[in-house]
Amino acid sequence: MKIKIIPDKCIACGLCHVNAPRIFDYHDNGIVKFYTTSALEAEVPTDDHTITAVKKCPTAALQLVKTK
Ligand code: SF4
Repeated sequence: MKIKIIPDKCIACGLCHVNAPRIFDYHDNGIVKFYTTSALEAEVPTDDHTITAVKKCPTAALQLVKTK
C-alpha cells in the first residue's frame, strides 16, 4: 500500500512511530518521515500496525493513497 505524509499537518506527537516503528521515523524537529526514505510518498507493506498508525494520527498527517 502507498502512504502519503503531509508534514505541515504533523504535530510531532510520536504516535505513528509507537504504532509502526519500522515504517515511521522523525526529522530532528520531530516531524514525521518514512524510516527508509525522505520522500513524502512511499510504498510500504500492508500491515495492521501501519494501518493503525495512519488511522490514529490525530491530525491526518498520514494518508493512505488509493491506487487503481
Ligand atoms: S501520529 Fe501524525 S501528528 Fe503524530 S507524529 Fe505521526 S504523523 Fe505526526
